Amino acid sequence: MRIVICGAGVIGAAAAYELSRRNIAVTVIERWRVAGAASGKSGGFLARDWCRGTPVAALAERSFDLHTAWAQDLGDRYGYRRVDTYAVTLSDRRRPGPAQGANIASWLAADASDRCRIGNRDTTAQIDPEAFTRTLIEAATSRGATLTIGTVAGLETSRDGKRLEGVVLEDGRNFPADAVIIAMGPWSVLAARWLPMPAVHGLKGHSIVFRPEATLPSEAVFAEFEDGDGTTYAPEIVPRADGTLYICGLSGNAPLPLDPSQVNPEPGGCEKLCAISMRLVPILGTAKMLASQACHRPITADGIPLIGPALQVAGAFIATGHSVWGMLNAPGTAEALGELIIDGSTRHVRLDAFLPSRLPRLAPDALRIGSS
Ligand SMILES: Cc1cc2nc3c(=O)[nH]c(=O)nc-3n(C[C@H](O)[C@H](O)[C@H](O)COP(=O)(O)OP(=O)(O)OC[C@H]3O[C@@H](n4cnc5c(N)ncnc54)[C@H](O)[C@@H]3O)c2cc1C
Repeated sequence: MRIVICGAGVIGAAAAYELSRRNIAVTVIERWRVAGAASGKSGGFLARDWCRGTPVAALAERSFDLHTAWAQDLGDRYGYRRVDTYAVTLSDRRRPGPAQGANIASWLAADASDRCRIGNRDTTAQIDPEAFTRTLIEAATSRGATLTIGTVAGLETSRDGKRLEGVVLEDGRNFPADAVIIAMGPWSVLAARWLPMPAVHGLKGHSIVFRPEATLPSEAVFAEFEDGDGTTYAPEIVPRADGTLYICGLSGNAPLPLDPSQVNPEPGGCEKLCAISMRLVPILGTAKMLASQACHRPITADGIPLIGPALQVAGAFIATGHSVWGMLNAPGTAEALGELIIDGSTRHVRLDAFLPSRLPRLAPDALRIGSS
C-alpha cells in the first residue's frame, strides 16, 4: 500500500511516523519546510483532561498517554517533560491587592495574584513542538518514508472520480497512491477544489521565545492580564526543558496567505506581547529574544477536528482542524488514521464526532485564500 501525506506539520509528521511503524510506504509532501507553520510555533503544552466534557475528550486522553509512550520510544530529543500548571491574574488597571499564593511560580511578577494550580505532573506535560515534529519525520524516514518538498496542487482519481489514484504537484510531478491524507493545517481548505470537504479557517496568533539568564522550573502558567486601558489578554507562559521560555496569547487579523512562508507578525503584535511578557515575568528584562513570530492554527466551523474519510472519493482522508490542541492530539489522530486506513476501523478512539461528513461542504467557488 502506498500512502501520500500532504503537509509536514505535526499531524502529517505523526501520521508518517505511525504508518512507517506499521511498515507502510509513506511519502510526505511539504510545500515549505517541516514544522514551518503552526507546528513549529505553538506552545507545545499538553493536558490529559482539559477537553473533558467535549467530543475531543477520548482523543485527548489517548493522545496524552501516547505522548508518554512515544517519548520513551523516540528518546530525549524534543524536551518532553511533565509540568505543574498554574493560573494567575495580573491587572494594571485595578489597584493590586496582596499577592495570593506567592510561593507558586515564584518567578512571576510579585503582584500577580489569585495563583492556583490547574494541572499537575499526572495531567499536564510539554514538548518543544518544532523538535517533536522534526523527530517524527526523521523517525519515519529512518524507517523508509520519504519527504519531498513540493506544492500539492491536486488529486488524480479514476475516470468516474470515485477512487483516488494519486497526488499531483504544482511542478507537474505525480505520486501514485492508494490513499492520501490531507494534513495541510489551515491550507487543507485548498482541497475543497479537489474533494467535497467542509471549510477550514486559520486563526492567527503571535508568540515569542526568550532565553532567560536563570533556569526556570517545570511550571506552565496560564495568565489573565489586564493592561492600563482595561484590555484583557490570556498569555500562556511555558518554560521549556532547553532553558528557553515561550509566550503566546495575542491574536492577529491578517488573512491566511496562500504561501505558508509568508505568514508574518503584524505591526505592533509582538511588541505588545513582549511588553506583557516583561510585566508578567520581570526576569525577561535581561533575556535574549530568540524568536518573535506568528502562525495560523487550523479551525473548523464547530471547533472539532476533521479526521476521517473524505466524501465520495475512496482512498482520500482528511486530518486537520485541531485548533489549540494539535500538538496534544497528533498521536491519537495518527493512530486512528493508521487503524482506519490499514485495518478498516479504529480500535482506540471512535471517530464519529470527527467525520468530515458532519459539516456542510464548502463550495469550491466560495474558497478565499491568499490571492487565489
Ligand atoms: C500561538 C499558538 C499556540 C499553540 N499552542 C498549542 C499548545 O500549547 N498545545 C497544542 O496542543 N496545540 C497548540 N497550538 C495548536 C497547534 O499548533 C496546531 O493545532 C497544529 O500545529 C496544527 O498542525 P497541522 O499539522 O494541522 O498544521 P500546520 O502546522 O499548519 O502544518 C501544515 C503544513 O502543510 C504545509 N502546506 C500548506 N500548503 C501545502 C501544499 N499545497 N502542499 C504541501 N504542503 C502544504 C504547510 O507548509 C505546513 O507545513 C497552538 C497554536 C498556535 C497558533
